Amino acid sequence: KRRNPGQPEFVQAVQEVAEDIFEFIGDKVKYHEAQILRRIAEPDRVVSFRVCWEDDKGNIRVQRGWRVQNNNAIGPYKGGIRFHPSVTESVLKFLAFEQTFKNALTGLPMGGGKGGSNFNPKGKSVNEIMRFCQSFMTELYRHIGADVDVPAGDIGVGGREIGFMFGQYKRITNHFTGVLTGKGLEWGGSLIRTEATGYGAVYFLQNMLTSKGMDIAGKTAVISGSGNVATHAAEKIVQLGGKVLTLSDSEGFIHDPDGITQDKINWVKDLKNVRRGRISEYVKEFKGASFHGGGARPWGVACDLALPCATQNELNGEEAKTLLKNGCIGVAEGANMPTDLDGVHIFKAAKILYAPGKASNAGGVAVSGLEMSQNSARMSWKEEELQEMLKDIMRGIHDRCLEYGGQGGGYTDYVKGANIAGFKKVADAMLAFGVV
Ligand code: NDP
Repeated sequence: KRRNPGQPEFVQAVQEVAEDIFEFIGDKVKYHEAQILRRIAEPDRVVSFRVCWEDDKGNIRVQRGWRVQNNNAIGPYKGGIRFHPSVTESVLKFLAFEQTFKNALTGLPMGGGKGGSNFNPKGKSVNEIMRFCQSFMTELYRHIGADVDVPAGDIGVGGREIGFMFGQYKRITNHFTGVLTGKGLEWGGSLIRTEATGYGAVYFLQNMLTSKGMDIAGKTAVISGSGNVATHAAEKIVQLGGKVLTLSDSEGFIHDPDGITQDKINWVKDLKNVRRGRISEYVKEFKGASFHGGGARPWGVACDLALPCATQNELNGEEAKTLLKNGCIGVAEGANMPTDLDGVHIFKAAKILYAPGKASNAGGVAVSGLEMSQNSARMSWKEEELQEMLKDIMRGIHDRCLEYGGQGGGYTDYVKGANIAGFKKVADAMLAFGVV
């Protein structure tokens, strides 16, 4: 805390990891002497820059942009770009730190980074978004590269924004390289990248349930968010025979006791991606559903499974207790650090199946890693091949968590397993490099 004043999210993320790592390091002198944890918890660099753009009325607007390059011990920095008014240096440092462990867990050669801006894309015209993205890339381009740092999308940054940024990168450098992932299929993108995070989270949940002889079929699921991760998690739950009861956005949540079917999910995708509307509009379209406003969160709705897929700290200790009281047996995080530290402790103490985001939402960055490979080889894999690779990678992450998180008596601490497996890979690479 003393080292990072005013950065609560970053301190929280480091604290959560440190709890497990201290125990793992124990008397392993090599990690102590090399100060590995302290080194991973200090980003390689944080670049902060001005992003100046002109709105449709001709006003000059000034935003702040960042790229946090946390660690490149096992591969080029890799992590998304977030455009949201809540973005601060603390939020991006926490995300870049988490990303380092997550990327290591995938088994692919990727370091950890994250970037973004406090720009609010809501209510902006397409031209305003384009001008902002171009201005953002006009500075960012000098810090990234296919073998240096490869950003992707995140909250507020989807295929459209990646297109505007890739176009500007290409215009400035004249290089057509795999410098961003999440690209369109016509210009170097990978099949299933859009679906990968949500689908991957559900595959992870399925792996956890299978380890206990259970299944998603016939179970009810409560999901928060209504963006990329939430809608694809919902889709996969439905495909596997589960029933999705809720979705949300920053204004509140909708509860549909009849279940949010594939047709309804398609309607939500159109609402969010094309019409840029609010989730409250769902209840006008689908009778029987209710909207709970004022920023309400869905964790009070009784369910078997919960998938927080919106943002950080959206599920606190009280809400974790409510989920348990209502019979929830499995939680897989689609978002990054959606459960606060109290909530994490409550899930762990109850010994339910609880997957932290760095394990369960790694499917997105894993397919981004596969996009990088396809770009380097100048080829593209088929959808079925990628689906299989995604399933394999999620199974691999699950197994690595079991290896380091098995507590005896059949209980697996997935948080601990993910933290230790990710740490060990990065730490061993750092040791090999000496003091740098
Ligand atoms: P989107 O922008 O597509 O969707 C975000 C959703 O979360 C929206 O419904 C949004 O509502 C809601 N939301 C955002 N901020 C808040 C907030 N402060 N309070 C309440 N709701 C909020 O983003 P993604 O689906 O891509 O990302 C969601 C989460 O998943 C993030 O934590 C992200 O870091 C993580 N993630 C994403 C990956 C990906 O591949 N996209 C990969 C791994 C993790 P509203 O529209 O009202 O803002």
